[in-house]
Formats: sequence, C-alpha cells, structure tokens
Amino acid sequence: MNYTANESRYAGMPYNRSGKSGLKLPPISLGLWHNFGGVDLFENSRALARHAFDLGITHFDLANNYGPPTGSAEEVFGQILKKDLQPYRDELIIATKAGYRMWDGPYGERGSRKSMLASLDQSLKRLGLDYVDIYYSHRFDAETPLEETMSALDQAVRQGKALYVGVSNYSAEQTEQAAAILKGLGTPFIIHQVHYSMFERRLEQGLQDILLREGVGSIAYSPLARGLLTDRYLKNIPADSRAAGGSVFLRPEDITEEKIAKSRLLDVLAQERGQSLAQMALVWVLRKGHVTSALIGASKLSQLDDNVAALKQPDFTQEELDLIDSILSK
Ligand code: NDP
Repeated sequence: MNYTANESRYAGMPYNRSGKSGLKLPPISLGLWHNFGGVDLFENSRALARHAFDLGITHFDLANNYGPPTGSAEEVFGQILKKDLQPYRDELIIATKAGYRMWDGPYGERGSRKSMLASLDQSLKRLGLDYVDIYYSHRFDAETPLEETMSALDQAVRQGKALYVGVSNYSAEQTEQAAAILKGLGTPFIIHQVHYSMFERRLEQGLQDILLREGVGSIAYSPLARGLLTDRYLKNIPADSRAAGGSVFLRPEDITEEKIAKSRLLDVLAQERGQSLAQMALVWVLRKGHVTSALIGASKLSQLDDNVAALKQPDFTQEELDLIDSILSK
C-alpha cells in the first residue's frame, strides 16, 4: 500500500528551536524504544510512524540497542523508511545513540572512539541511511576521557555521518564539560536528552540552568513516566500494556500503590481541566518553554492523537502548579 503523507501535516504543529541552534523540533517527538522491535507487529510500528508524521511529528528517536532484540528498532525503522518515509527524508529528524551494551567484547559499549564510531556505522547500515540528523553519546563513560568521546561525536559530524550531536543522561557538571570541549572543536552540540516528568525532576536541579546558559536544547524522555502518568494503570494493569508485556523497564511491581495514588489525584485535576492525564503530563513538561520537545512512546494511534492534542490546551495557573507540587510531594 503506497503512502502519501497528510497534506496538512504542518498546519497544526508549532516547532521549537533546539537551544540556540538552527534546528527546530516538534514539541512532541516519537521514541522507538518500545513498540518498534523485531518482536512487535511490523504493521503496527509502520502505522504508528506514518500516523506520527501525518500529525506533524518530524522527529524519530532511536538508539543502537533499541528493540528487542537489540538493533531491531533501527532495522524496523529502516524498513519503514524504505516502504513509506524515504521520499520525505529531508522533512525528518532521525536520531540515534551509542553507549549501552550492543555487541560482545570491550568495544561493544561505553564511549571510546572505537565504540562510538563503529556503532554509528552499524546504525547507518541498519537504518539504510547515509547520515543521521542527531548522534548522541547515550551515557557518560567514566572509563574514557570525555575529550575522546566528544572527539568521536565531532568526527561523526566531520565525516558527514551526523548533522548535530547531543548527550544523554549526563549530569549538570558533565554536560558543562562536554559543552566546553565541543565548543572548542566547533561541533554543533544542540541537545541533551534527559529523563523528565512530573515524577522525575532532576533536570530542575542545575542541569536546566546550564543548558540555558550554553544555548543547548533539551528533549525530555519518558514524559509520561512510561505510562504511569496516563490513564493506563489507574484501575489495573491492562493486558495490552507495557507493564504486562514483560518489559524489564516497567514491571508490574513498579506500578506501586504510592505512584498510582498520586496519578489518581493528578487525574482528578486533569479532568477538571478537561484533558486526559497524559495530556496534562505533557503540558506540564513543556510548561516553561525551556524543554524543546517531549519524547513520548506510543503503542496505539489513538495515543498519538491524544498526545498531540495536548499542544492545543491551556497552560497552568500558578494555583494548579502548586496543587500538582503538593500532590507530588505527598
Ligand atoms: P512515555 O513516558 O511517553 O511512555 C510511553 C507509554 O505510555 C506508551 O508506550 C503507552 O503505554 C503509554 N501512553 C502514551 N500515550 C498515552 C496516552 N495518550 N494514553 C494512555 N497511555 C499512553 O515514554 P517512553 O518511556 O516510551 O520513552 C519515550 C522515548 O524516550 C523512548 O522511545 C526513547 O526514544 C526515549 N528514551 C530515552 C532514554 C535514554 O536513556 N536516553 C531512556 C528511555 C527512553 P503502553 O505501551 O502500555 O500502551
């Protein structure tokens, strides 16, 4: 079935500049960590990617190890590109990363030049691309000099295999050092991928200030707390949910009574605001205009619709923000 993108895909989507760079990203981006692996139904993954693009989501986030099995999300997205999205390549921002364990032996993980550059070549092969738009160091590697990891990112750009670079899961101090090294090399360091949601607020403890000062954008991963900040688990653990699906990153025991009690209270406020809990969680992440994009996952097309509709919804009053903080601190 041939795919033609929705003609009005850009009509409803605003785009945010990533830091002080020239690159604009949609306020909602799609991550392929789950639901795009070799174990998932290809036609569902394909429909999700197409629907996202039809809604104006131009940014797709990958990593070498996404799947399962590892590497398969890049292969699946490579197939989707080949079948549907390749004609739109210049409208897409495709990111990948390296840092976590990918292959056997001492070079299959972390931040050495050897590992970072070999992994990028493997990713490009799986994706069937000549370049990615953003290449990330997925995690800080204390065993490798930061200069070496950053010079590998720089080399990826100089080789034409990446247009921009980013870091993920770096502390405020590590980010400051990375920014200084990359500035010295003249490398376009435009984004930090950071865990941020109502339940995970470390970004606010110093890192956000550094990103603003350095002119680096941010993309908040797991803004829905992997589903906990949605209506998914308010009553039970549905059979078709991530927590029931054997993901090691959201197990039934992670759905604690304490978390769900907070989600239920937040859901009451969301209903008063006339929105879903997921929508409220996204408006919250984007509320100050500091975060460039909220990086969501989705298993269903309806979740994409629900999440993108959040962009049309009102910001918070100070009273509502205070109420959210008091619920979260219970
Ligand atoms: P989210 O917090 O957005 O969780 C997504 C899950 O929430 C979906 O799979 C779905 O669960 C549920 N959901 C989404 N929308 C709705 C809705 N409207 N209503 C009800 N439920 C909804 O993000 P993820 O944890 O999936 O992470 C997103 C991306 O962030 C990843 O794909 C990856 O690209 C990136 N990431 C990066 C990391 C890093 O170290 N840099 C680490 C983790 C993620 P269900 O599947 O159960 O339907």
